[in-house]
Amino acid sequence: MNVNQVIKRTNYLDWPEYFMATAFLAAMRSKDPITQVGACIVNGKNIIVGIGYNGMPNGCSDDKFPWQKSKDKLTTKHTYVCHAELNAVLNKNCTDLYGCTMYVGLFPCNECAKVIIQSGIKKVVYLSDKHSYKAETIAAKKMFDVAGVTYEPFSPKNKKIVIDFEEIDWNNMQQCDFSPNKDEVDVLENSLEPLHISGDSNANQ
Ligand SMILES: [Zn+2]
Repeated sequence: MNVNQVIKRTNYLDWPEYFMATAFLAAMRSKDPITQVGACIVNGKNIIVGIGYNGMPNGCSDDKFPWQKSKDKLTTKHTYVCHAELNAVLNKNCTDLYGCTMYVGLFPCNECAKVIIQSGIKKVVYLSDKHSYKAETIAAKKMFDVAGVTYEPFSPKNKKIVIDFEEIDWNNMQQCDFSPNKDEVDVLENSLEPLHISGDSNANQ
């Protein structure tokens, strides 16, 4: 008898989509009015180990430091903003990023390329290379090529990934085989033996 009558979903996100979407979700946290970039670092087991987006350094107020571009070094955002790639590396929740892959919205600049190389990341997947003509991008690729960091454009399976909090029909979703109602829970709790814990219960506090 075939007990597995229910087949799995087929329209689930694949790993690259999930990681790039995570980078894009992080980018939505950015206060930069012109460019919002997110980055997501993944290890060899498909576990996310770092996420970042472009923003002012910690403690440097989003309201006091400039978001504009200017030729004056002291009043242009470029002097102050930490790029998504840098933040993702610094936010890592593991000791070592060696061999990891970074998913990022925009091709990294030369400064981020240095950070990526030094961190041990070996692959960069990007969505846009719109600054490919710029010296910063050309220099970044030069360094990646020599340092053995590979890079490839992201090709999405789905053009859109939508999160609509109101669309999800929780009433028709079931994680468990059955959901007991309150009366059934009461009966179940009353039938359980009291739990006795021996020894000092505060030993680990
Ligand atoms: Zn950068």
